[in-house]
Amino acid sequence: MKLTVVGTGYVGLVTGTCFAETGNFVTCVDIDAKKVEKLSSGEITIFEPGLEKLFARNLKDGRLQFTTDLAAGLEDAEVVFLALPTPPGEDGSADLSYILGVSDSIGKLLKDYKVIIDKSTVPVGTAAKVHAAIAKNYSGEFDVVSNPEFLREGVAVDDFMKPDRVVIGTTSERAQKLMNDLYAPFVRQGNPIIFMDEKSAELTKYAANSFLATKISFMNEIAQLCEKLGADVDMVRKGIGTDDRIGKRFLFPGIGYGGSCFPKDVKALIKSSTEVAYDFKILNAVEEVNELQKLHLVSKIKTYYKDALKGKHFALWGLAFKPNTDDIREAPALYIIDALLAAGATVTAFDPEAMKNVQRVLGDSIAFSNDQYSALHHADALIIATEWNEFRTPVFDKLATLLKSKTIFDGRNLFDVDYVRGLGFYYESIGRP
Ligand code: NAD
Repeated sequence: MKLTVVGTGYVGLVTGTCFAETGNFVTCVDIDAKKVEKLSSGEITIFEPGLEKLFARNLKDGRLQFTTDLAAGLEDAEVVFLALPTPPGEDGSADLSYILGVSDSIGKLLKDYKVIIDKSTVPVGTAAKVHAAIAKNYSGEFDVVSNPEFLREGVAVDDFMKPDRVVIGTTSERAQKLMNDLYAPFVRQGNPIIFMDEKSAELTKYAANSFLATKISFMNEIAQLCEKLGADVDMVRKGIGTDDRIGKRFLFPGIGYGGSCFPKDVKALIKSSTEVAYDFKILNAVEEVNELQKLHLVSKIKTYYKDALKGKHFALWGLAFKPNTDDIREAPALYIIDALLAAGATVTAFDPEAMKNVQRVLGDSIAFSNDQYSALHHADALIIATEWNEFRTPVFDKLATLLKSKTIFDGRNLFDVDYVRGLGFYYESIGRP
């Protein structure tokens, strides 16, 4: 098939590349000319494990191309994916201006039947709005399908190539057949394509992310309770995770959820609920707990130094909102940095992939180091904010030599408490004695 993907960020680039990998001819359209130039010349614009190889192969074989020209991108395409941003507006609702702006342009360019597929995360009713925006300028036949994306950054290629499920919201039989053909190579192992109406598909995505965010906030509250009662959250986690109904995944406490999806999707679902006069009580609490949890580690640091952070210098391992990505949107590390700088401390950070992105945002208000150990020079303590695998088994002798004081504040519970304390470190983590 010939496809167009509009928006070439984390979702668009993975979607375009993976569809090219299964033999389709894909044109990716983006408004950012620099990004298009880089991608066209073979330079990948995001860090995502496994993506670069597929990207290079499909670009070379001519199944993947990039343009800023929407009209050229749409030519001959049977399906058009919208993988555009839906950031939170000031009131927390999803900003649909990108989606509806592009839909309006598509309406002016359509000449024949196409399926327009909404891959962005959008509130219930958006498929109808996209339909209306296109129909303003085009009276021919077309379908709008809601096909929310469930990939996780860091394992996005695997998630896309072997999805747990594909959710397709459409009531059109013609669109259903096309979507079935398009996704068939990705569900050969038997994972389902779940067809439903557009509204249910739109809500499914918010329900999934909000449920996961709820799991995280729940465990963060259990961790808070563990700290007050002297219990160990690691034990509680194992104790409950072995129950199939609860499951082992997503039970790790930490420094709050971040990233480009959970915070904005929870906000948007709260807003959607308010609009229909429904008070979504759990989600309000999920958000409130997360706001508090983002600064929990900083509270511990302040308590330890008796609020005298002025002149203290910290080494910070991890900037990305989670491991295996360079994405720093809503990363908890950024909140920790802000709080430390506001209290008069200084920071030297190391992250395997995300330093460039942070430098762009923070400039020279913090220092960066080339490796995890050189960040430790002259630091009063080490703070850990992202659970990159390479931080899990450090050479503790080196830490002891390089740090001014053997002090670790770990927001991701990477180390065994007894072991690290046995080595003479002052070690604080989340929800453990
Ligand atoms: P992103 O910011 O990484 O990418 C969006 C791209 O759209 C950018 O390259 C931008 O230049 C481009 N763009 C903006 N306006 C445009 C226009 N008018 N025409 C063409 N291109 C334009 O965003 P993302 O992380 O890929 O997210 C996209 C959507 O997918 C969002 O709704 C998000 O909630 C959803 N989603 C994201 C993830 C994730 O892990 N990132 C997972 C599932 C769903």
